[in-house]
Amino acid sequence: MRSKRKIWKPAYIGLGSNLNEPLQQITMAIENIKKIPNSCYILSSKLYDSSPMGPPDQPNFINAVVAIVTQLKPHGLLLELQKIEHKQKRIRNELKWGPRTIDLDLLCQGQEIIEDDILTLPHPGICKRNFVLLPLMDISPDIMIPRLSNMVDLLKKIENNPIRLKCLE
Ligand code: ATP
Ligand code: CA
Ligand code: CA
Repeated sequence: MRSKRKIWKPAYIGLGSNLNEPLQQITMAIENIKKIPNSCYILSSKLYDSSPMGPPDQPNFINAVVAIVTQLKPHGLLLELQKIEHKQKRIRNELKWGPRTIDLDLLCQGQEIIEDDILTLPHPGICKRNFVLLPLMDISPDIMIPRLSNMVDLLKKIENNPIRLKCLE
């Protein structure tokens, strides 16, 4: 008989906020992530201040990456992240990459590769965004993300990234 015990997988979550006290929003989101069921918080990266990727007439973002281990399936974890966004009053509008109280992207989960209408894993933005790669490097410099090269090579490729990034610690 097959065991019903669920396995634990590492998952990395990208956090971003540029509305309603972004530093507090990030702290609150980390506290909310710690409460996700069937999951254990591991650690958070340093905090980063980044110029906006979307429309330039909006405040800078605070970004971080959080590592957890989870027994949830990727779609279940995404749902939990969306509940936190909702709780922190994330309002979705037509404006792509516009201002938001909190954005929680599921960057990767174990070696999962998913491409459906709801979820893309690994998150397609990872390799192009210094505000994701730098905090990810803080907490997991050896991470191997499916379909992507190693962190050192990824970081080399985004050396000329136009987004201005400042580490706050
Ligand atoms: P980007 O995904 O480029 O960072 P965004 O974070 O502004 O942009 P959202 O408006 O937050 O995009 O999300 C749009 C949709 O992306 C969500 O409804 C969700 O279903 C989908 N999505 C697909 N893959 C992921 C993922 N890995 N993490 C979070 N959302 C995802
Ligand atoms: Ca995002
Ligand atoms: Ca998102």
